[in-house]
Amino acid sequence: MAHPSKKEHARQWRFTHPGYAARLMRKLRAKRIQQGLCATCGVEPLVSPRQDCLSCLDASKERTSSWRRDLRAKVLAAYRDRCACCGETEEQFLNLDHVDSAPRKNGVREVGYATYQRAVAEDFPPTLQLLCYNCNLGREKNEDRQCPHLKQKRSWYVVKSRGGTP
Ligand SMILES: [Zn+2]
Ligand SMILES: [Zn+2]
Ligand SMILES: [Zn+2]
Repeated sequence: MAHPSKKEHARQWRFTHPGYAARLMRKLRAKRIQQGLCATCGVEPLVSPRQDCLSCLDASKERTSSWRRDLRAKVLAAYRDRCACCGETEEQFLNLDHVDSAPRKNGVREVGYATYQRAVAEDFPPTLQLLCYNCNLGREKNEDRQCPHLKQKRSWYVVKSRGGTP
């Protein structure tokens, strides 16, 4: 049997010794920072007050934003890429909304990407919905948490059923 490469061996070792590997990594990062080097690559100078060099910062920003883009696209598609109230399909207007109130974790309301992550983890539950900013705000402004669109529709039906024109 061929020996695993040094790199592969190191990877396996980190996997089987997670606590120890993390401690080693922290030590290595601290040492690099002390030397004024990027904690991530250990090659380029770090950009104070951050712990990384410019290219590592850019790379990590890029990773984060592409992760966010993917997550958002996945969630939007699962909720049919449209506002559940008015049918708006412009992606930039759409946001995930809590049908009831947002759950709290240690007293803090769940917002932003935490909600998107939970949507995926819980296989897109009906307690979340996609709304455009208009409908989102419309709901927030009303005590009964209903978008004004709903009331408009309702009064339109009332007028119609009485034989009038809306
Ligand atoms: Zn770097
Ligand atoms: Zn809407
Ligand atoms: Zn609406």
